Formats: sequence, structure tokens, C-alpha cells
Amino acid sequence: MKRQLNYLWILCYFILFANLTFAQWDESKITYIKAGKLFDAENGKILTDFIIKIENSRIAEVGKNIVIPQNSKIIDLSTYTVLPGLIDGHTHVMTLENLNNENPMADKLLFEGDALRVLRGANRAKSWLENGFTTIRDLGDSGSFLDVALKRAINEGTVVGPRMFVSGPIIISEGGQVRGLLKKHRTVISDEYTIVRNVDDAINSVRLHVNYGADIIKICANNSPNNTSLTIDEMKAIVKMAHRYDKKVTAHATTDLAVWEAVTAGVDGIEHGYQISDSTLKLMAEKGVALVPTDISESLFHKLYDIVDFQWNREKALKRAKDRYKDRLLRAINAGVTILTGSDNYLDFEMPQGEAAKNILVAYHEEGMKPLQILSSSTYLSAKFMGKENELGTIKKGAYADIIAVKGDLENDFSNTIFNLVFVMKNGEIYVEK
Ligand SMILES: [Zn+2]
Repeated sequence: MKRQLNYLWILCYFILFANLTFAQWDESKITYIKAGKLFDAENGKILTDFIIKIENSRIAEVGKNIVIPQNSKIIDLSTYTVLPGLIDGHTHVMTLENLNNENPMADKLLFEGDALRVLRGANRAKSWLENGFTTIRDLGDSGSFLDVALKRAINEGTVVGPRMFVSGPIIISEGGQVRGLLKKHRTVISDEYTIVRNVDDAINSVRLHVNYGADIIKICANNSPNNTSLTIDEMKAIVKMAHRYDKKVTAHATTDLAVWEAVTAGVDGIEHGYQISDSTLKLMAEKGVALVPTDISESLFHKLYDIVDFQWNREKALKRAKDRYKDRLLRAINAGVTILTGSDNYLDFEMPQGEAAKNILVAYHEEGMKPLQILSSSTYLSAKFMGKENELGTIKKGAYADIIAVKGDLENDFSNTIFNLVFVMKNGEIYVEK
């Protein structure tokens, strides 16, 4: 009798559970968003009064005359501007350096360890999502492919974070980006970076990275602050191998020579490019190579000076830096080079790292880029660079439901409005709703 009762309980439980599950499924399956303004990232235009129908993780329909059935789940964003989730094309979520630490690299490489580093990285990655970046491209975060591990944990739902495209360790020449390390400690560098010593190494480094789950190949065309660099032949071998596996190659390159060599070797993107000449920009435009300017906003620059007791004059240094950034950015735009957004934020500005990263959009605006141009760069164009323009960085049928909303006037009050985030959805799930 007791056993029969038990069966009965189990049966009741299953019926109850099944009903609940189906009821919830029915309710959450389809959602409608009413968008007062909608950013058309592909055409760089603001549209008004659109409805977005979302079915599970994807956008099912976008239009003005979509009929919303009674009792549907509706998210009313009719007083806001709705945009595709932002993309930060240059992150290091597993690096955050204290500005007053004289040797942050040593702390990271010698004392932190993989477990602590990836746990901290997971928490920081979440701050990007909370600031409206539904996708990040993580370009060099640990020799042991912790970025691949974090990406998997986010995709399976173990931790909350943005969609990640990851490079694995940076592929680089002898010495990595650490200057003056004693020779007997050189293995520390090969723990963090993939060191290339010749063309065969270069070929194999790409195979290794693809095998371990890299989505993109990140190289250093010059190793600033270190003074070594890859040769054009090594870079050519890397590009050829990466393209064979349908992976893009992007190069850290700060000097004009480094940019020219990387572009000549066939890379797809240039990170930083602080000193690019007009002739190199022309070559980039001809070859369709994108530029990721990793500039600093005025407010972050001031924060830097608040935290660190620099000896230089703050205003003079700010003007000098911003004039250089502005000159390079506008020359690149005029040359017809595609600009992609990338914060390269790895310094501790005493705020969530994703919030500091968002300042990159403001930096471009300060340097003369138009608001809608900036937003296309950080959505559609960044997705296109990864060959994902039908799935990410756009609000259209079939794309992932990665959608954000801001309060205010993006075209006339960009710097404030972009921080006035009221809604974040990734994969059809809501993460911020104010
Ligand atoms: Zn970087």
C-alpha cells in the first residue's frame, strides 16, 4: 500500500511538473518588443515605431505592422532607442592592472594562477554584458586558453557573460610583451604567449590555436613595449594558415612600419595603429583591412591622473594625446578604412571593467566620429568582420535576440545617452531591465 502511494505521488508530481513546464514554455517562447526608436545598424539610420517579435533566442520578425495577439508577453520600450547589442572588439577580461602597481605583469604571471584568474575574468566579463556589450572579442588572455574555457562556461550557462570570440594566447616573437626579463625566467613568457621563432613555428602556432578552440588569431606585429617583432614571412605563414581554417588574423601594431608589414603580410585587422601614415592607410583601404583604434576618453584620462601621481601637466598631456588620436582616426575614416570598436581596457579605473570599456565609444565621439557611425562600427561592422552580420550586430529576422535600449537622444547627446542603459537582452534572455 505504501509503495502504491509512493507511485501515486510520483505520478502526481510528474503531471504537475509537466503542466508547469509546458505553461512556462508557452509563455516565454514568444516575446514582442515595442521600439519607439530602432537603430538600423546596417544602414546607420534611426527608424521609428517598430515591433520586434522574438521566438526563443532569435528574432522572428521586425516590422511596423506586426499584429500582437492578446495575452502576449510585451516589453514596452516605446519611449527608448532600441539597438543591437554592442560589440567590444578588443578585450582582455582576464587582465586588470592596478595603476599604481609597478610590476602588474609579474603579479599576473607569477602570483595569480589560472583558477583565480579565470574566476576574476568571469566576473569582469559579466560587467561587459551589464553595460550593453552582448559580444566581445577577447584578444589575448593567458597561455592556457582560459578564454576558451570561459567562453564554454558562458555558452553552457554555467556563468553569465557576453558572447565571446576568443584568440587564445597572443602569437608573438621572442620575449613577448615583457621587457628586460632575465633569460633564466623566459619560460614565464612562453607560459603566457605562443612564441614563434621561425616560419615553421608560425604555421604550427595556428594549428595549435585552432585545435584548442580559438575563433580568431591575434599576433603582435611589433611587441611594444618590448623591441622585437615577427618577420613578414612569419606573419604571411600565420595568415595563410589561419585563412585555410577560415579564421581572421588581427595584429597589434603601433608603429607605421609594424602596420605596413602586417598589412603586407595579409592580416585582416590592425589593433591600435597609433602612428599610421597616409600611405599605409591607403594600403589598408585597398586591401579591406579594418582598424581598431583603442583610444582613451577624456574622463578616463582624468581618472588616470586622479589615481596616479604623474609629474606631467594633465591638460597638456591630455591635449597632446587626444590631438594625436583624433588626427589618426579622422585620417583613417577619410582614407576609407573600416573602423571597428575596441576598448583594450585592462587598467583598473576603479569602476566595473565593462563600464570603463564603454568609454571607447565616447572617445571616438570626442575625436569627431558621428554617433550613428560609432554605433554601426560597434554593431554591424564588428559582426561583419567576424562573418556574423546575419546573426549579430543587427536587428533583423534570423539574428540572435541580442538587443539593448537606451534612454535619451543618441544623435544630440551621445556621451550621456549611451551610458543611460535601460535594457539588455542576450539570446532572448533579459539581463538588465530598468
Ligand atoms: Zn590589447
